Amino acid sequence: ASPTSLLECLAMTLSVPVSASSNAGEPLLAVRDLHVAYGGIQAVKRLDMVLHPGELVSLIGANGAGKTTTLKAICGLLKPQSGEVRYQGQSLLGQGPWDLVSQGLVMVPEGRGIFARMTIDENLRMGAYLRKDGEVEADLAAVYQRFPRLKERHKQLAGTLSGGEQQMLAMGRALLARPKLLLLDEPSMGLSPIMVDLIFEVVRDVSQQGVTVLLVEQNAHRALELADRAYVLDSGECVLEGPARELLGNPQVQAAYLGG
Ligand code: ATP
Repeated sequence: ASPTSLLECLAMTLSVPVSASSNAGEPLLAVRDLHVAYGGIQAVKRLDMVLHPGELVSLIGANGAGKTTTLKAICGLLKPQSGEVRYQGQSLLGQGPWDLVSQGLVMVPEGRGIFARMTIDENLRMGAYLRKDGEVEADLAAVYQRFPRLKERHKQLAGTLSGGEQQMLAMGRALLARPKLLLLDEPSMGLSPIMVDLIFEVVRDVSQQGVTVLLVEQNAHRALELADRAYVLDSGECVLEGPARELLGNPQVQAAYLGG
């Protein structure tokens, strides 16, 4: 049967590798004793983190806590000082972002990273650049169905879009890579409340279809409501971790991150 939506496509592709590689309980991503520095600035230290297939995990913390640095180290944009990042049981050491995208590890960066002088359509197709299957057009149609605003403007230059539309575009482009693990860096930043709702709804749907998600958010309340589990970073170190619901009720988290 031909898939009718991008999410169905994602679910279909995911069901194969996830079950095929299932040494029961093996994490999709495992970060062990990660240290990352910028010259003399120690941005991340002693970080351990695991994501199991299908989980939606949030990484929260104040400005400068090391959240973006962690994502960049996972996806090969920054070289760690020490520690290990394993994805699907393999070390990612020495692999660049392109290698990882073709293995389904896809990041939507803070600030969205869209190609401003390219059209919406061209930007979306860039997401599928490394794919060799014949289902790109169907996935593109599904993205346009999910984001009608992008469809209406498909020939418009991406640099002319509003912040919310650019975030939709960045998410759509990531979905066109058929991710297994989606790293999202502050997707709600600078957006209107309606756009924030829409973007979080997309994150939830994508997760429910089986994509594993690591969500970095300053909007800790929304992130904890959405996630299965969460890690709290403070000055580069993990100070708390656990089920997101428990962290939502934790007085320490409420005082520091939820305005409680
Ligand atoms: P924010 O929510 O403000 O983006 P963050 O939790 O994502 O914060 P990072 O951007 O990872 O934090 O920054 C962690 C630390 O590393 C901060 O002290 C920051 O100033 C520093 N840092 C980040 N990028 C660089 C860089 N390119 N050069 C030097 N220091 C950096």
